[in-house]
Amino acid sequence: MRNPKIGVVSLGCPKNATDTEVMLGLLNEAGFEVTFDNDQAQMCLVNTCSFIGDARKESVRTLVELADQGKELIIAGCLAQHFKEELLNEIPEARAVVGTGDITKIVDVIKACAADSSLRLVEVSDIPNNYDDEVLPRMQTGVGASAYLKIAEGCDHRCTFCIIPQLRGDFRSRTIESLVKEARILVAGGVKEIILVSQDSSYYGLDIYKKQALPQLLEALHEIEDLDWIRIMYCYPTETNRELLATIASLPKVVKYVDIPLQHSHPDVLSAMARPKHPEKTMDLIREMVPGVKIRSTFIVGFPGETDEQFEHLVKFIEKYRFDRLGVFTYSRQMEVPSGSMDDQITEKVKKVRRNRIMKLQHGISSELNANMVGQEIDVLIEGYDDSKKLFIGRSQWDAPGIDNTVYVRESLTGERCFMGEVNKVLIEEAKPYDLFGVAGGATPENMAEAAERKQAKASKPIPVRALIS
Ligand code: SF4
Repeated sequence: MRNPKIGVVSLGCPKNATDTEVMLGLLNEAGFEVTFDNDQAQMCLVNTCSFIGDARKESVRTLVELADQGKELIIAGCLAQHFKEELLNEIPEARAVVGTGDITKIVDVIKACAADSSLRLVEVSDIPNNYDDEVLPRMQTGVGASAYLKIAEGCDHRCTFCIIPQLRGDFRSRTIESLVKEARILVAGGVKEIILVSQDSSYYGLDIYKKQALPQLLEALHEIEDLDWIRIMYCYPTETNRELLATIASLPKVVKYVDIPLQHSHPDVLSAMARPKHPEKTMDLIREMVPGVKIRSTFIVGFPGETDEQFEHLVKFIEKYRFDRLGVFTYSRQMEVPSGSMDDQITEKVKKVRRNRIMKLQHGISSELNANMVGQEIDVLIEGYDDSKKLFIGRSQWDAPGIDNTVYVRESLTGERCFMGEVNKVLIEEAKPYDLFGVAGGATPENMAEAAERKQAKASKPIPVRALIS
């Protein structure tokens, strides 16, 4: 096969998405035709995830579906790192597996497979430690206004439920110079928001600079003209310290959004997870030091040995701190990590009941917090248009793509327009638990007058008689 047309599926987290973009960039530079319509492709690059059981299942399902369609498969990412032999043995359509530290070999791998149809390749380094900090070409797969910037690879922590250090190796920061150079290229291409990702962004610099250097990186990125927002994903409690928070508070382009997976609140569960105890101290510090901050966290319920009392501790913690954004996962048992062989594994039924309880709690909290946004003028990065709703789609500075609120925006009756790929002023008119609705132009006198009229019309709308007796 001469230079097959390459399709692509990128699964898992934003860190994986940046790897996919780099691989596509390299293939594009080498003259391969890349398509996002897999029907058109002869060969598909699937960048897989292996973080939890469900992610593994989704990766395998994707591979099998593509194989059934007759596609040849190049399997990259965490599942490839973890199950290289099994994937080649069990999926005849798999032509190659490429490890997490081997993504820059993608062109050679595909060239070799194209040249010899009987070849089946394994390019998986045992210790995926050769993270390349050169500025590599990238083909953006997301909406052009926002781009991920992977600041480091791997993790130095050893949370007992997490397989990532085994798959991605120890923490390796890229240099500030390399990151600023890549960010400048992205901004020159029209990017308005840079999202810093890694397994533990607050740890940035501790390996190569022997001190936390995220504040310095933020300051350097802040100098880039035409960049509007800088977002940090995945902070770790112990490094979310005064210096970092003061930097977030003081730099206008750094969004007032802290993403800090806390995983649990009870000290004994956190201890069993090998994570820092007393997350309440971190929460208090963030709110004290960053005015107007909104906090995102994730929690795991049903960790081995989690008692009813420890779960109730978590519920009370969430009730007390009222997280602006929150994700909750059921513990996913994996035998390759220490928690897999811990006693007192919790049944799936109990895990689901606990997760549902927190999701219901958060639904109420999120509804109330979003309702408080009505009447406020906020900045919204417009990223698309919803044809069915006839509304523009965007995000506020407090919303990361794919996981947080969407802001739907209409153009105003008086002609205030929405500008795609730009940060627009928007007046929020309506709130749902996980979405906001607003009007372009912000708090103009016309928009305010219209909002007042709508409010009055809503208030004076007659109540259906039947509602009085129901
Ligand atoms: S900090 Fe995150 S990536 Fe690192 S071991 Fe813990 S859960 Fe895994």
